[in-house]
Amino acid sequence: GYSSTSGIPGVRERTLIAVKPDGVHRRLVGQILQRFERKGFKLVGLKMLQAPEELLSLHYQDLRKKPFYPSLLHYMTSGPMVVMVWEGHNVVRTSRIMVGDTNPAEARAGSIRGDFSIHISRNVVHASDSVEGAQREIQLWFHGKELIDWNCSDHNSTYQV
Ligand code: GDP
Ligand code: MG
Repeated sequence: GYSSTSGIPGVRERTLIAVKPDGVHRRLVGQILQRFERKGFKLVGLKMLQAPEELLSLHYQDLRKKPFYPSLLHYMTSGPMVVMVWEGHNVVRTSRIMVGDTNPAEARAGSIRGDFSIHISRNVVHASDSVEGAQREIQLWFHGKELIDWNCSDHNSTYQV
């Protein structure tokens, strides 16, 4: 059960956040994860994996015709990733702001990409860009049983009941 959930719309919204291979190589997993924890979102899924090319081709299906697509696949298979599912009110939109612009040269200081990266070809982190996209991506990367429904004890300090 999930009895402590308030009636606030979208509290159960979820998004997929991934530390890309460059972020893992650069030992940024802890710092990236900490930003979502300190914000107050709830971690409901977490794993490390070497992403298979087939999974990445589904994940990035809309980019297949882009000139950078082959190099994107090479980048994303260059080492393990850490993928996470975070839950909370407006988490898809808010986490895009926390992650920053796709191009780190345009990403604001204080955002993850703004603080930790320089070039669009190595931008350390992924975040789903819409609620529907998030649902699709979460299903791609996680089995249902890998996502944990749990009551966080600070819920009532994060949302008005
Ligand atoms: P995102 O949602 O902010 O990650 O951006 P997109 O969905 O548009 O692109 C997915 C990923 O493809 C980006 O995060 C980059 O890793 C990569 N990418 C996008 N545009 C370019 C580009 O022009 N050049 C290169 N090398 N990679 C790109
Ligand atoms: Mg995208």
